[in-house]
Amino acid sequence: MGIVRIMKNILFPGEHICLFCKENMMDDSSHICTNCMELIEFANREVKLNLHHVESIYYSVLYNRFIREKIHDFKFQGKNYLYRPFGEILINTIEVKDIKNKIDAVTFVPIHRRKKALRGYNQSELLAFYVAKTLNISFLKEHLIKSKWTLDQNRLGKLDRENNLKGSFEAVNIEDFKGKEILLIDDIITTGTTMEECGKVLVENGAKNVYGLALTSSIKN
Ligand SMILES: [Zn+2]
Repeated sequence: MGIVRIMKNILFPGEHICLFCKENMMDDSSHICTNCMELIEFANREVKLNLHHVESIYYSVLYNRFIREKIHDFKFQGKNYLYRPFGEILINTIEVKDIKNKIDAVTFVPIHRRKKALRGYNQSELLAFYVAKTLNISFLKEHLIKSKWTLDQNRLGKLDRENNLKGSFEAVNIEDFKGKEILLIDDIITTGTTMEECGKVLVENGAKNVYGLALTSSIKN
């Protein structure tokens, strides 16, 4: 921490910096300054995908340039601390869409352990952890596993995406979620194939219902 930051913390103990721009200070508990807020287009929308194993899927914000860049930083530039502002955005959707009353537990779309080792973290896991902790909902940490190494989904067409992911997720410690309503968190919805595959594994192993929530969606509708 630089001397200016230290001085600021002494003079204004309640102040902290916006995690998106790392420029503006705020004195409330939020992690997003008003400048960055203006660049976010809140949607809090349900996507109609008619999936078989996921009840409803929601996303928080439109996939605009600001969000695209910040998600890129979050996933590929090592800026894992962005789970806090992004987590706040997800919590806003949970409140607006009244999702908390429907669910018993929160989990996330897993990545292969080799990918996690390379990246150092799974961004969706960080988001789910933040949401579960902040809202005091049970967190399912070791329950869905990506057991098969697959090609990057966004390089494939729709049919290839489905085939690529088939049988690539597994459930473990299934007693923990039997009969439960689960909120499944991911960063971005592209076709819904990933959510559907994870939902299928959860439901086939005893989950009562699965709801999906992502930060944003690249589906044109
Ligand atoms: Zn900002």
